[in-house]
Amino acid sequence: TIGMIGMDDKGKLAGSCTTSGLAYKMHGRVGDSPIIGAGLYVDDEAGAATATGLGESIIRICGSFLIVELMRQGRSPQEACEEAVRRLISKNRKNIADIQAGFLAINKDGEVGAFAVHPGFNFAKANLTSNELIDSKSHF
Ligand code: ASP
Repeated sequence: TIGMIGMDDKGKLAGSCTTSGLAYKMHGRVGDSPIIGAGLYVDDEAGAATATGLGESIIRICGSFLIVELMRQGRSPQEACEEAVRRLISKNRKNIADIQAGFLAINKDGEVGAFAVHPGFNFAKANLTSNELIDSKSHF
């Protein structure tokens, strides 16, 4: 998945998300990426979030919507991503060793956060003057 979330110079948020889905997927499978609220959610009044990883586990917790709602309630993007990962883990305890999922978020103040189930999820953070590649923290 390539998920992008951003803010313009007027503070307006936007996002997009694209994926080829999973390797060897069943014909007709729909992952999280095309489902608003699962793979992507944007609300100018609260923040934006996007997801990558096993779509079924992300859909089950409405991952991106959950993160935006947590930011609306005052959580930072980082705290919101960590809570979404905790929620995902609690719903998938039996096979969590085989599930990777990661979330990326930005709030209306332009703060960003990211968190994944396992190591290996990195993201680019860019603004008008800098561009960095960041390895997100992970639960395990
Ligand atoms: N989230 C995608 C899916 O489940 C897979 C990916 O991360 O590319 O379809």
